[in-house]
Amino acid sequence: MPEQNKPTVSVAAGKGGTGKTLFATSLAVALNEVNPGQVQLIDCDVEEPNADILLHPQITQQTPVNVLVPEVDLDICTRCGQCAKHCQFSAIAVIRDAVLTFPDLCAACGVCAYVCPTGAITEVNRQVGSVAHGSTVQGIKFVQGRLSVGDQRATPVTKATGSQTDDSMITILDAPPGTACPMQETIEFSDYCILVTEPTPFGLANLEDSVATCQRMGIPCGVVINRDQAGWPGVEDYCAGEGIDILLRIPQDRQIAEAYARGETLADAFPQWRDELVRVYNDVVEALLQTATTKVKE
Ligand code: SF4
Ligand code: SF4
Repeated sequence: MPEQNKPTVSVAAGKGGTGKTLFATSLAVALNEVNPGQVQLIDCDVEEPNADILLHPQITQQTPVNVLVPEVDLDICTRCGQCAKHCQFSAIAVIRDAVLTFPDLCAACGVCAYVCPTGAITEVNRQVGSVAHGSTVQGIKFVQGRLSVGDQRATPVTKATGSQTDDSMITILDAPPGTACPMQETIEFSDYCILVTEPTPFGLANLEDSVATCQRMGIPCGVVINRDQAGWPGVEDYCAGEGIDILLRIPQDRQIAEAYARGETLADAFPQWRDELVRVYNDVVEALLQTATTKVKE
């Protein structure tokens, strides 16, 4: 992490419904209180973006996300079948006199156009999603990706959204749940990943997957336990054994659940939480600096 740049922090969770977006938006609101106008929240959960429900931004711009898909000129095509033979995704087929394309299956790799001996294939834009830009009344810069209804290719939209990261700002990335490609595409943009989990065997199983993903990608991570309550110690024991910091515990609390249901962040509904949230960010920055210092000494 270059010293002049502000760290980008992703917030991820092994499954949906753990409070990931509540934490990410609360962190953004708390940080913006002490760094007004220097915080951006990027919602990369493009299949189910919902950070806007908690931050209430004003959207000022929408940009389309396009991928290239093949279009066949049947007047030039000789039906040789080379395109279908080389497509690894079964996204183009030659059946008797017809050449069928299946844009939903297409990976936009361009191989069919490359192998076509007659130049009958042109690559044309197809919109698969959009990226919204705006800001909140408090001055948080807001970016949100959204996959087009019925489209399945989240990765290009996630990449287009995550690439809006501005190193001159404190950036919080709200990652898609799980550990599949869209989550990995998101956390790749970050210097540190905060993993939100619940103190249950289910939560622990998902957390283990998330930690393994971060470790494989070389991204340091820490844990926030949501809906924390006395009882099952599995998550704490696991974190202690792996040497993973527990950054924050958000208690099982009816008032927090009610505030969330009203569309309020922790930082908005309970100002006493702001210092704790800022402390979490400072702990992350400290951990990154220590890692960087250790590497320099080595
Ligand atoms: S490779 Fe080109 S010419 Fe051959 S079937 Fe496909 S589109 Fe037609
Ligand atoms: S661009 Fe790639 S994935 Fe799409 S139809 Fe052509 S070869 Fe198949």
